[in-house]
Amino acid sequence: MIPIAKPCLDETEADAAREAVLSGWISQGPQVAAFEREFAALVGAPHACAVSNCTTALHLALLALNVGPGDEVITASHSFIASANSIRYCGATPVFVDIDPATYNLDPECVADAITERTRAILAVHQMGMPCDLTSLLALANRHGIGLIEDAACAIGSQINIDGRWDLIGRPHGAMTCFSFHPRKVITTGEGGMLTTSDSDQDRKLRLWRQHAMDVPDTVRHGSPQVIFENYLFVGFNYRMTDMQAAIGRKQLGRLPDLIARRRALAARYSELLGNLEGLKLPHEPEWARSNWQSYCVRLPDRVDQRTVMQNLLDQGIATRRGIMCAHREAPYASNKQRHDLRQSELAQDHSILLPIYAQMVEDDQVRVAKALRSQLGY
Ligand SMILES: *Cc1c(COP(=O)(O)O)cnc(C)c1O
Repeated sequence: MIPIAKPCLDETEADAAREAVLSGWISQGPQVAAFEREFAALVGAPHACAVSNCTTALHLALLALNVGPGDEVITASHSFIASANSIRYCGATPVFVDIDPATYNLDPECVADAITERTRAILAVHQMGMPCDLTSLLALANRHGIGLIEDAACAIGSQINIDGRWDLIGRPHGAMTCFSFHPRKVITTGEGGMLTTSDSDQDRKLRLWRQHAMDVPDTVRHGSPQVIFENYLFVGFNYRMTDMQAAIGRKQLGRLPDLIARRRALAARYSELLGNLEGLKLPHEPEWARSNWQSYCVRLPDRVDQRTVMQNLLDQGIATRRGIMCAHREAPYASNKQRHDLRQSELAQDHSILLPIYAQMVEDDQVRVAKALRSQLGY
């Protein structure tokens, strides 16, 4: 069986988790602090704040921009439902706009058309690790005085060229960037998330929010020779990461360069194996973007049925997934009147499939996937 994805974990991560357990400090503590420092240094952000997952990261990022009831946040329907749900957590309304079918990312012209006086923020997704058109979206956000949050759940290690310089996603351009360490992403801590920002006041607020706005963290009280009484400054949350997760995350960060190099090689090989097939559209990497290839998504020819192709591949021991979901087609959003055309989003969901890609994937397996797909398409 060739799986769709596979986390890259071995004794290194197991030992790190074991050490954290035996240290006696297992909730948010020294490992979380070290993971944050290393993550911030890696992506080139002044601040990185670890949280329990990317959904909670998105929630806090939106709160940090004062998104609340009555506000609109423009985002893609064509994304994991967490993007839309985080907007609803704030009592705000997600305004879904269509994607550019070449990149599966927000079409800046559609975003421009959707801005109203109620728009508080743009939540821009780097879908499947492919950077979205941040340059255009930032220009729009700045022109209208609204905030931009990056949903970089899938985009750790992806790069974007802005103003002639290649930056890793997470180096602050908009207000905040949110990452996920779910096992389906390029590096994992089981569950986990990270927020990066250049604004130290915002970073301080995130750190309060994630532990019930307690003004003196337990790590500080634990190490103090004096008795300290803490206060709770406002209504916060428990969005903490554990030290076991952070210890695993630090080891995963060390693997990141190799994981990305391997994924880039696999993506390039898929493009060779599947190139020049009439009607099959391979992923497009704009010249200003370098994907981490969290997923490799192909658009099937219109003449074939997505489910049939997927089932036939599964029967041959090859797992695939359909194109990214559309939130507006799911129960929580189905009753929303959609203001904007979402045709490209729906076509992408219905006519694309994700092929297996993971760092340990061997050449033979990749050739098997490509052959099986070619034969499904009649080539
Ligand atoms: C995975 C994912 C999320 C949610 O991340 P969790 O860490 O599972 O909460 C959010 N947005 C996108 C685009 C994702 O792919």
